[in-house]
Order: sequence, then C-alpha cells, then structure tokens
Amino acid sequence: MTIYTGGCQCGAIRFRVEGELRDSSICHCRMCQKAFGAYYAPLVSTRGAGLSWTRGTVKKFQSSNFAHRGFCSDCGTPLTYEAPDGVAIAAGAFDDPAALPPTVQFGVEGKIGFVDRLHALPGRLTEEDVEEAPFILDIVSYQHPDHDTTTWPAEKKS
Ligand SMILES: [Zn+2]
Ligand SMILES: [Zn+2]
Repeated sequence: MTIYTGGCQCGAIRFRVEGELRDSSICHCRMCQKAFGAYYAPLVSTRGAGLSWTRGTVKKFQSSNFAHRGFCSDCGTPLTYEAPDGVAIAAGAFDDPAALPPTVQFGVEGKIGFVDRLHALPGRLTEEDVEEAPFILDIVSYQHPDHDTTTWPAEKKS
C-alpha cells in the first residue's frame, strides 16, 4: 500500500494518507484562488484512501454552505478543501508533490488568462538574485522538513 505524508510549513500539522491517490487536479475557481492566495489551487482528492491527521488540528473556514477550507492556524498554510463528497489536500503540502501530477483542470471559467503563459516566462535560479538580495546566502530555514519527525521543532530558535 502506498503511503503519502505531508504537512504545513511550520510543522504544527502533519497528515498521512494510505492508499492510491490518482485524483490530482488544479482548480481555477475564484474561491480556490482566494483560499490559496494563488492563481489556482492544486488539490489531491483523498476519496477511497485513508486520511489521518498525525499531528495538530486543522482550523477551518466555512467558505460556502457546503465547503470548508482547512489551514494551519500557526503558519497559515492552506491544507484542505472539504465538501460533502470528500476531503482534498493541497498538493504542495505533500512531502513529495512531484509524485502527484495533476490530470484535470476544474473551474476553468475562472481561469486567469496569463496562467497559460507562465511556462514561457524567463526563469532564474535563486542564487542568481544574490546581488539584489545578498541575505539569501545566509538563509536558515525554519520550515518543517519533507518527512515525518518525532519531535518538532528540532531545537529551540533563539
Ligand atoms: Zn503550520
Ligand atoms: Zn475551486
């Protein structure tokens, strides 16, 4: 059985899914744009699989009479779209999002036009911005690592 794990950026919330996840999508609807603060929302349905929350409790905003949006109340990471037909998890919250390629787009009536041209934008490596933002050489990440941890945070930040 395939095991998927993931969580929020700060690590207060962790989840685990047992089973095969095939229903990965992006949604362009305006509510998903707002809930994710993004041009579209990448979501993976957990229908037919076993979702469990292994650390922390997701806070929820009821975005409509049918749907709730779950997020981490400590760091704000969007985590779920919960509707009567099941729970979908934000694809980027998985420890290995690349394992869950999207297969369909929803809410295309809300698609922002330039989204179809993003791949054509010029691209830069993080290190290429050193002159304008020299602090990037000294960045210490406080983000939870992409695997389960027995204790977190690993050590106290000063
Ligand atoms: Zn968090
Ligand atoms: Zn949507």
